[in-house]
Amino acid sequence: MDNKIFRKTVKDSHIVGIDLGTTNSAVAVMQGRIPIVLKNEFNKTTTPSIVRNNLVGEEAKKYLIEDPLNTIFASKRLMGRKFKDSEIQNYIKELPYKTTSSCNGDIWIKTNLGKFAPSQIGAKILNKMKEIGEKALKHPIVRAVVTVPAYFNDSQRQATKDAGKIAGLDIIRIINEPTAAALAYGLDKTAIGKIAVYDLGGGTFDISILEVEDGVFHVLSTNGNTFLGGEDFDNEFSNFLINFYNQTENENLNKTNISIEKLKEASEKAKIELSNKMSTNIFLENIYPGKDLDLKITREQLENVIKKIANKTIEPCEKALKDAKINKNEIKHVILVGGMTKMPFIRKLVKNIFKIEPTTTINPDEAIAQGAAIQGGVLSGTLDNVLLLDVNPLSLGIETMGGIFSKIINRNTTLPFKETEIFSTSEDNQKEVDISIYQGERGLVKENKKLGEIKLKNITKGPKGTPKISVSFECDSNGILKVSAEDSKNKEKQEIELIPSSGLTEQEVNEIIRKGEKERKKDEKKVNLINFKIKAERILQSLLNGTVKYPEKFLQKVKNLNEFISNKMFNIKEAKKELEEIKKYEM
Ligand code: AMP
Repeated sequence: MDNKIFRKTVKDSHIVGIDLGTTNSAVAVMQGRIPIVLKNEFNKTTTPSIVRNNLVGEEAKKYLIEDPLNTIFASKRLMGRKFKDSEIQNYIKELPYKTTSSCNGDIWIKTNLGKFAPSQIGAKILNKMKEIGEKALKHPIVRAVVTVPAYFNDSQRQATKDAGKIAGLDIIRIINEPTAAALAYGLDKTAIGKIAVYDLGGGTFDISILEVEDGVFHVLSTNGNTFLGGEDFDNEFSNFLINFYNQTENENLNKTNISIEKLKEASEKAKIELSNKMSTNIFLENIYPGKDLDLKITREQLENVIKKIANKTIEPCEKALKDAKINKNEIKHVILVGGMTKMPFIRKLVKNIFKIEPTTTINPDEAIAQGAAIQGGVLSGTLDNVLLLDVNPLSLGIETMGGIFSKIINRNTTLPFKETEIFSTSEDNQKEVDISIYQGERGLVKENKKLGEIKLKNITKGPKGTPKISVSFECDSNGILKVSAEDSKNKEKQEIELIPSSGLTEQEVNEIIRKGEKERKKDEKKVNLINFKIKAERILQSLLNGTVKYPEKFLQKVKNLNEFISNKMFNIKEAKKELEEIKKYEM
């Protein structure tokens, strides 16, 4: 018997595409060359991403009002997040169910059945989608392509993969939601020019600028807000309804003496109706003991209420255009994704932002699942190859002498990527090096975020600067990063897989980019100064260590420069002049 391994073939070629949404989820499969979104037991193509004990979807949704403590919704917002994160702390104040911190600081959910990681809740939703698929296809499903918001960081993507594992699903690829949507529209084949994907769902907003070249998608930039979606519109509308009712009926209702969940449900229903009608009635029986709420609301009233929230999507669009370094007039297609884009006000807003009519032929609720199924088709080999390329949101690099952040991967580099750079030692006969990996946009590492560290031992002995240490940054299409360091001579190698324990939110990413731009000039100055110091010190040392006898005048110059650069603040222009003088004596 030999020890060789072989590739296990999976007989089943039904790779499904799953849109694991904050509010709703959908599952699709390829039938021939067409992606079909599969229907659940209620004949619907979308299933609420809601879990109550063993119930998932519509059945669980019924308990939102009756059993709010144990009915878990929007768990996707908690996936891969830390309990102490200020954004999470703000958000959980609004949640009717309880949360807690796990021993590693991750946020977990508490129900009457115990504590659960958000990925365990995600697993129940994925399992439900698997069941829907299996029922429709009459076939077991083992492999899936699952979508995530463009701004999901490593830990959020990893939590999604974990959810798949728990559900017994092999997630063969994670792709960004906007990229999936563009695939659903077949833009890989037909698009000329740049594409904007505006995705406003129940809980998240994403804007992506894509480019298609020879059937290959490049994500030029992404932006958005993981805490902006239909739910926020419903909350705002609920507040308005309470005030409106109190004004017209001279009552004193507030959020503590009525059922908020009932009101939110009614607000959402009215919001959806107002996408097709100019006015609607909202009726809530017994909103307060003995009192009914009965109001007529017009589309105009709704639009006035939600305008402020809707307008919050404008800035991320402008930023995405800026990051992609393109003008609005270069955008040739705007795709709408997410249930909220059925709202006429949002369609008008998008048209105003991009100055072109958005494409709306595919149901915005279904486009992402369809795109994921198409990607599944590509991966199973039943469709032509379409490459999906996403981007790395922040620059990556390592710490080099003087605390300088040496970038290896620039921000917005297309995934997957592999980049290798050669480094060397700073001391003679140095035996080991510590390679600290950072993420950020600032010139010095102390201002950036440390992701991890590798210690490379047993380096080939030699004078400083001679050993060759190659450092590679490799990222797969799921955004999981591997950093390795190798001594080119003795092939000693160390590797680390990075899943940053506390992920960054997209607001934090934006803030980092903004600060990086603001401080760029100052950072450049600091880096130049440090580099100059290192260079000057090296030259001075080599001159003084040599056997050559230098004239007193020269030694005085060296002393001056030494003093000059050991001062924290020095004029680099003058110091450079001094160094040029000194270098004349270099052999
Ligand atoms: P998604 O996360 O893409 O499933 O989007 C769900 C969000 O879209 C929820 O906030 C829904 O209330 C909202 N939604 C669904 N259909 C409509 C509609 N016709 N008009 C306005 N909002 C809608």
